[in-house]
Amino acid sequence: MQSQKIDQIKAEIAAANAETPEELEAYRMRFISKKSVVGALFADMKSIPNEQKKEYGQQVNEVKQLAEEKFKQLIEEVNTSGQQRTGPGPDLSLPPTTWPVGGIHPLTATRQRIVEIFERIGFNLSEGPEIEDDWHNFTALNFPENHPAREMQDTFFIEKDPDIALRTHTSSVQVRVMENEKPPIRTLSPGRVFRNEAISARAHCIFHQVEGLYVDENVSFANLKQTLYHFAKEMFGKQTQVRFRPSFFPFTEPSAEIDISCQLCGGKGCNICKGTGWVEIGGSGMVDPNVLENCGINSEKYTGFAFGMGIERIAMLKYQINDLRLFTENDIRFLQQFRGLL
Ligand SMILES: [Zn+2]
Repeated sequence: MQSQKIDQIKAEIAAANAETPEELEAYRMRFISKKSVVGALFADMKSIPNEQKKEYGQQVNEVKQLAEEKFKQLIEEVNTSGQQRTGPGPDLSLPPTTWPVGGIHPLTATRQRIVEIFERIGFNLSEGPEIEDDWHNFTALNFPENHPAREMQDTFFIEKDPDIALRTHTSSVQVRVMENEKPPIRTLSPGRVFRNEAISARAHCIFHQVEGLYVDENVSFANLKQTLYHFAKEMFGKQTQVRFRPSFFPFTEPSAEIDISCQLCGGKGCNICKGTGWVEIGGSGMVDPNVLENCGINSEKYTGFAFGMGIERIAMLKYQINDLRLFTENDIRFLQQFRGLL
């Protein structure tokens, strides 16, 4: 009975296998530990008749030896197979694999920078609808019907209702702000605008503007100039020169175009500035009293200035981009160059 059990355990030991540390531990528990089947054979010693004790003891010791030899063999096997599986192991000192991350679009980055500059001198942000009515886009801004200035800002209308159009400038947002708020007003309106223009390197039917408005008592042209001097130097660098050229806009009087010294040639004259040393960045002026009155603001008491710039124009000057279409073509080779703007 006992010898049958011993033979069975011997066969089991001979057939035992271990490929992983877990299997090795299972073997140790079954054949080596105190509670193992071999341990149990020793415990059985006391029930063996005295005359058989010697022989039984020899057999059990033999099983114990077999179990231990097999254990050593299995340890070696598990160690070597473990090495084959994982090789020399990972080198933790190597730099990690980096995943390509996206970047901010140059127009978004430019808009953020413009907003940041004006926010620091007390301007807040305002938004309005891209689909506007005639009043907010033209009439309130002193564009009388059939006025030639409407021609300059031809846009997209719907046939059924010519009162509805895609806004041609973000000045419409300023009208909405003036209608709803009381001075002092100091606001910046960035956004997308639309014009009926053929797409070329210098014009597009969709582009972005940022307009500023300051209405309060005693706002003067000197305030306007100082604000734009500050902006130009913050945006393009301390060496930047600014000049104002008289101009016409229906909604401002007097009106002026804003030029800055050419970033490329530093004012000496080149292709970008067409030899003049100056490039235009936008328009500006004192808000026409009619516009203030149209929006319910007393023009006897309050004055204001307004300015507007194309975000594409600013980005093109800042990063020396020579084709407006690049902004909307989604060419990854173009966009990748602005990854550092994050
Ligand atoms: Zn130049």
